[in-house]
Amino acid sequence: MESFVRTSESILSIRPWTDKYPNLAAGFTTKDGGISRGYFHSMNPAFHVNDLADDVVSNRKILAERIHVPAEKWVGAEQTHETNIVKITASEAGLGALDYATALKQTDGMYTKENGILLTLLFADCVPVFFFAPKHHLVGAAHAGWKGTVGGISKAMVEKWTRVEGIPAEDIYVAIGPSICPKCYMVDKKIIDLLKVILEEETKTAYNQITESQFSLDLKKANALILHKSGILNENIITSELCTSCDETLFFSHRRDSGKTGRMMGFIGFKEE
Ligand SMILES: [Zn+2]
Repeated sequence: MESFVRTSESILSIRPWTDKYPNLAAGFTTKDGGISRGYFHSMNPAFHVNDLADDVVSNRKILAERIHVPAEKWVGAEQTHETNIVKITASEAGLGALDYATALKQTDGMYTKENGILLTLLFADCVPVFFFAPKHHLVGAAHAGWKGTVGGISKAMVEKWTRVEGIPAEDIYVAIGPSICPKCYMVDKKIIDLLKVILEEETKTAYNQITESQFSLDLKKANALILHKSGILNENIITSELCTSCDETLFFSHRRDSGKTGRMMGFIGFKEE
């Protein structure tokens, strides 16, 4: 059963988590319910794609109402397809929330223990990976395109939580969100070779060779395998079936829309008690 469930026009919630923990806000936005026009019609929460900044701010405020964390307390990241992960404290609240200039530089993953802060990352085909350790009051999110995936950003988050925060890997739950499916995602051998470095013999279950030089890659599966290899229990990993490229009614897609498109926002945080 699909775990990213539409709970309002603009939001898919990670229901297995949010049903059990009402204090948790966690999900992924749709392209509906905003005010942006043209390529960005209508819920585009991304500043860096040349949408009108005022419209993006309005969209973010619409989302904030529905997520129940004020937009002024969101944190956004620059997202440069690297593997740097930052721990967010109260002093970072608001960075990248209402403009792109203050977004955390060279950051593709964030985590926090704080209440009342929403971690936000933007996506249009790349894989959103959400992390949650309810026993330890910790949430995190990572942006895993092919570069972040083969670079090991999912593994890097697990290592932060286990080594720096001292949490056992079996206490960590992961949700892999809507993103491009293998049918829609052809890559060349260079990427498969890089994946082999991190996944070794398990790599073959994440791709199919289509032609001599073309491979259909399952980026969600690749991240799930990397997470399992890093110590996450398979029963603690949820994977969305939704494809951002197949589902034109719900999502923007960078590949399908040839780059002229908006973004969806993956978000996770504890609401203010
Ligand atoms: Zn697809």
